[in-house]
Amino acid sequence: MAISDSEIAQVRAATDIVALISEYVALKKSGRRWTGLCPFHGEKTPSFSVNAEEGRYYCFGCRVSGDQITFVREMQHLDFIEAVRLLADRAGIELHEDANAGPARKEKQELLAAMDKAVEWYHHRLLNSPDARPARDYLRSRGISGETARQFKLGWAPDEWDALSTSLKFSEKILVGTGLGFVNKRDRRQDSLRARIIFPIFDPAGKAIAVGGRILPPDPNRPVRDDARVEPKYKNSPETPIYSKRRTLYALNWAKNDIIKSGEIIVCEGYTDVIAFFAAGMPRAVATCGTALGEEHFRTMRNFAKRIVLAYDADSAGQSAAASVYQWERQHEVDVAVARLPKGSDPAELAQKDPQALRDAIANAVPFLQFRLERVLDAANLATAEGRARAAELAMQVLAEHPSDLVRDQYLMQVADRLRLELVALRPRVAEMARNPVKREIPSEPFEDTAPARRRIVGAPMPRPGLEALRLSLHYSHELEGRFIAEYFVNDTQREIFEGLSKGLPVSDVIDALERQGEEDAAHVLSQLVVDELDRDYTAEDVTAVVSQLLRSAVAEEMKNVDRDMRGGVLSPEVAMATITDVKERISLLETPHGEVAERDLRDWLLSRSHSESS
Ligand SMILES: [Zn+2]
Repeated sequence: MAISDSEIAQVRAATDIVALISEYVALKKSGRRWTGLCPFHGEKTPSFSVNAEEGRYYCFGCRVSGDQITFVREMQHLDFIEAVRLLADRAGIELHEDANAGPARKEKQELLAAMDKAVEWYHHRLLNSPDARPARDYLRSRGISGETARQFKLGWAPDEWDALSTSLKFSEKILVGTGLGFVNKRDRRQDSLRARIIFPIFDPAGKAIAVGGRILPPDPNRPVRDDARVEPKYKNSPETPIYSKRRTLYALNWAKNDIIKSGEIIVCEGYTDVIAFFAAGMPRAVATCGTALGEEHFRTMRNFAKRIVLAYDADSAGQSAAASVYQWERQHEVDVAVARLPKGSDPAELAQKDPQALRDAIANAVPFLQFRLERVLDAANLATAEGRARAAELAMQVLAEHPSDLVRDQYLMQVADRLRLELVALRPRVAEMARNPVKREIPSEPFEDTAPARRRIVGAPMPRPGLEALRLSLHYSHELEGRFIAEYFVNDTQREIFEGLSKGLPVSDVIDALERQGEEDAAHVLSQLVVDELDRDYTAEDVTAVVSQLLRSAVAEEMKNVDRDMRGGVLSPEVAMATITDVKERISLLETPHGEVAERDLRDWLLSRSHSESS
C-alpha cells in the first residue's frame, strides 16, 4: 500500500496549491502571498494565507497549517494515502502502489474518462449533426448563441435508442457506472438520454461528472408519435461514484472567478437560467442539479462568497424551508437574499426580454425574511379589520421562524405600521410563537464539527530579530547567500529552523523533518513564516539592517559568556576587557561605510567563540 517518498514529492511538486485551495476558498493575491477566509474556522476577515512557491498554507486565526496533502485530507476527511491518490489523479501522475490498492480509485478514473468522452460526443453532435438542427434552433430561440453553446459544452442526444452506447463502445460496467446507459430487457445496451439537449455538469476543477438533459418543446408542425410517452422536462444523471447531487452546483467551475471577485453567488433553479445570467453579464450564477438547496451546498458556497442571492421564481423562493435557511445563515456566516423577479418570469426569459431588469433584481435583492413578509402582506386584504388581523397572524408566523429576537422585532415594527396595529399587542405573541414553533424544519442531525485537529498554540514569544532574519531567508534565499549563519540565532527554535533551511531542501521537507525530530514548535513557526507576507520589498540597506540587528543580539548574548568566563577565571580581566572594547567598537561600525568589514570580523569572532566552547 505504501507510496514511495519520491512519488509523494512528485505529487506535491505537481500540485499548484493556489489552484487546489481555490476550488474551496476564494483566494486573493496580496503581495507574494494569497489570502482568503479560512475554510477551517468561521471568520469574516481573511487570516488564511498561502505561499504558492513553497506549497504551504497557514491560518493566523486558528493556526492550522499544512501543504497540499494536508489540505485535501482535512477538507475531504481522507487519510494520507487517499489524499495522495486524489492529488495524483488530479495531476495525472501514476502511482506505483500494490496492484490490489485502490480499485475504487481506478474505477472512478475510468468513469471520469468515459464521462469526458461522452460530453465531447454529445457536444460534437449538437454542433455538427443535421439531426440536431431543431435543438440548435431551439437554443437560438432562447438566446443561446453558438459561442455560448461552446462555452457550456452543450450537447445533443439524438433520438435513437443506442447512438451513444454503440458509438463509444462503452462496457456495460462503464455505461451503468456513469449512468449514461443501461442494459435493457432484451439484453441490449441502451442510452439513458435520447432526443434531449445535454447540459454537462462539471466539478469545480472542470472535470465532467454528470449530464442533465432537456427535452425539446413539441414541434407544432409534427404529429405526436403514437409511442410518445409523457417524459419529464429534465432528466439528470443518477448518483454515481463520481457524482453527488447534494454537493454539486452546476456551473461553479465557470462562475468561481466572478463569485470570488464580486463576493456574491447567484443560485438559480435551472441550467438555462444560469446561462442567462452569464449572458446578461453576471457570470456568477450556479444551479442545484435536480435537488433542493441544502446543507452541503451552503458548505461549498460559503467558501467562495458571503452573499447568496436566490434567483428563483417568486413561488419557489417563498417555499424554501425558512428555518433551514436561517440556520445556514448563522452556521456559515452568509447572508441569503432573494431577487424579486417579476411575477411569472424566470431569469432566462427576463435576460432575453430585459437584461437590465434582471441586473436590477439582483442588485436590489432583499433579505430572505423581508421577502417572505412582503409576500404575506402583498397578498393580504388590508381594507377590512378581518383582513388585517389575518395578515398579522400570517406575518407573525413568518417572523417567528427567525431565530433572532432583535431581527424579529425590527420587522415586527414594519408589520404593525403597515397593518395599523399596536406593536405592544403583537410583541408577546411573536415571542410566544417563536418559543413554541408549530413545525420546525431544522434538520435533526447535529452539524459536524469542522474544527481542525492540528490546532496548536505556540508558547513563548519569539525574539524579533531572529524572526525577521528567518523571514528574509525564506524570501531572499538567493540574495542572502552566507549573510546569516546558525551562530547568529540565539533562540534554539529559530536556530533549528535556520539549520533546516540551510540544507537547501523544500520548506515542506524541512517542516516534515522538524516534526519527525519532535521539534514541533519549530515546525509550527516555520509553517507560519512561510506564508507570512513581507510588508514591502527589502533593499540591500534593509537587509543589512536585519543582519546587524541579529548580529547585535547574538553578540550581546555572547558577551554574557565572556563575562562568565572572566568571573570563572577562564579569561583574564585584561583580555576580557579588550575583547569587550573591541567588539563594541565593531558593533558601532555596523551600518556605516565600514560595516562590511565589521560584520565579517564579528562573524569570525562569534565562530571562534563557538568553536572554543565546543572544543
Ligand atoms: Zn483558520
